Amino acid sequence: MITAHLVPILSDNYAWLLRCSETGATAIVDPAEVAPVAAAIDAAGGRLDLILLTHHHGDHIAGTDDIRARYGAKVVGARADAHRLPRLDQQVAEGDTVTLGNATAAVLETPGHTRGHISFHFADGHVLLCGDTLFSLGCGRLLEGTAAEMFHSLAKLAALGPDTLVCCGHEYTASNARFALHADPDNQALAAYAAQVAAWRAAGTPSLPSRMEDELAANPFLRAPDIAALASLRARKDSF
Ligand code: ZN
Ligand code: FE
Repeated sequence: MITAHLVPILSDNYAWLLRCSETGATAIVDPAEVAPVAAAIDAAGGRLDLILLTHHHGDHIAGTDDIRARYGAKVVGARADAHRLPRLDQQVAEGDTVTLGNATAAVLETPGHTRGHISFHFADGHVLLCGDTLFSLGCGRLLEGTAAEMFHSLAKLAALGPDTLVCCGHEYTASNARFALHADPDNQALAAYAAQVAAWRAAGTPSLPSRMEDELAANPFLRAPDIAALASLRARKDSF
């Protein structure tokens, strides 16, 4: 089974350390800062098999070549964005799989934030690495893609099921909660969840990973009924 542990990096990013509990095989997702990522890998035993990249932004890939050189890990990223990612040892697209120890991740193309954005889903362990596509109580900005693409990407992630652990790229949840409460003021599940997030953050506790069940109940972007509603929400959030 795959377990996921967050590694706080930069100002508000998370890299994710993944481990196959049976074999000890280890992966790091989006290692954009070397020192804290290396410390986390070393604390887990110093083994690194894979580096998984969700998209090409510097706050997700910056430490990749240094971490690869240090541990000899194989780098996996989107074939569609190979020209703007670090050198890839495995180029992947929708429907491909990535093996970590005894576990297998499905590669999901999730464009919207960027054209070549991908997510990784380990069904065994219910672990979803979704980069800057789905955030807790929010979603990524549409920097390259359309609202239609983001709508379909979010629907694909929502379909992974209520037990899915949402391991995303940023600790944006408290700020997302302020907009969500403004956009969906009558949602009792959202009000309760936002209060929980506020308590976690006040205690210095990360709000991630979240559970898809909570996102389905509280995240206005995941709850948008159609593309037009998502486009309108995203535009309002951009100037909130
Ligand atoms: Zn990004
Ligand atoms: Fe980012």
